[in-house]
Parts: sequence; C-alpha cells; structure tokens
Amino acid sequence: MNSIVTVRKCREYELHEIYNLISEIYEICQGPEVGGKKVLVKPNILTDSDPAKAIITHPVVVEAMIRFLQSKGAVVLVGDSPAIHTRVFKGEKSGIYQVCQKTGATWVDFTKKHAEIKSGKSRIKFPRKFERRPVFNHRNCTGCLECIEICPEKAIIMHHDKPNYVLLTDNKCSRCFCCSEVCQSNAIDIRRKSFGV
Ligand code: SF4
Ligand code: SF4
Repeated sequence: MNSIVTVRKCREYELHEIYNLISEIYEICQGPEVGGKKVLVKPNILTDSDPAKAIITHPVVVEAMIRFLQSKGAVVLVGDSPAIHTRVFKGEKSGIYQVCQKTGATWVDFTKKHAEIKSGKSRIKFPRKFERRPVFNHRNCTGCLECIEICPEKAIIMHHDKPNYVLLTDNKCSRCFCCSEVCQSNAIDIRRKSFGV
C-alpha cells in the first residue's frame, strides 16, 4: 500500500478549490485506480453537528471527494459510525446526508450492515491500567458538560461538590476518546496513567 501522506491548505470551503486540491493530492500520492470499484468515503461525524462547530468533516470536503472519485469511475458510498449512533442516524445536521442525495452517493447505515475484517496479525493486548485513556486537567475545565453529554458509556460525571471538576469511572470507559475530541478547553489529554482517576 502507498504510504505517501500529502496535506494541502484551503482558503475557504469552496467546492472547486477543494476538488482541485484533492485532485493534486491524489496525483502526488499516486492514488489507486478506482474505476468500476466501490469506494467507501468515511467522513468524521463524531456527532451529527453543525459544520460551523468544526468537529466533523466539512460537507463541502465530502462532496468534493465524492465528485472526484465519481469522475474516476468509482461507485461511492458514504458512512460513519459516530459515538452516538441511533438506528435512524443520518448525517443530516452536518449536511453530509444531503450531499449524498445531491451527488447520488449511497449513504450506508452501519447499524444494518456487518463488516468482517480479517487479519493474519494477532493483536497485543495491554493490561487495562496501561492503556491510553482520558486524563483530566481540572484547571482548564470550564464545566461546559460537552464530554459528559457525548460519552456513550456514561463514564464521566461532574463532581457533586467541586465546581468544574469532572470524574471518570474508568471501568465504564470504552476508550473511544470522543470526550477529548469535543473538549474545547484542552482539559482532556489522552495518555497512559497508572494510578488515580
Ligand atoms: S468538555 Fe472539557 S471543559 Fe467541558 S466539562 Fe468536559 S473537561 Fe470540562
Ligand atoms: S473515552 Fe471513555 S470517557 Fe471518553 S467519551 Fe469515550 S467512553 Fe466516555
């Protein structure tokens, strides 16, 4: 597999500009031949939110990617399995579902399909206490509650006495790291920590 990584800066979310940048990136990275193949585009839809919050892949980037792949002859599917994923989930608030409708790409409901990924390599399991996990920097916490709301395992609570002091119930945590992604205050690091909470 090609391991070249190329990054380009865009001035604004403008379809043609991003399309051209994707095209340039594809060429530099010697992207694979996709003509006649099914390609799944997996945008980041952490939670189906307004693109202005900048926590999801912008719908214009998704549209440019879909159109680029379609121009190469690919059949494009789009989907993600966000932290909060109900049976009726569609990326509607983010505008990604509408992009699928506009471009003719197929929205994939991950709750209805099962994917099996075979690998010859075995996984090395670390004892849980040595795993990377959310570690809170209480001094930065503003008490916005975003991490508590997004946590799919209900593993985070606010301290009943101390203001802006979140607590983790470690054995509930599934290490999805969504809490760290939504925290706008740099109050959640993801690292190894052996002792304490
Ligand atoms: S998201 Fe960050 S700032 Fe908000 S409550 Fe959680 S740790 Fe505190
Ligand atoms: S990493 Fe753990 S605490 Fe953070 S959102 Fe995921 S399950 Fe909840």
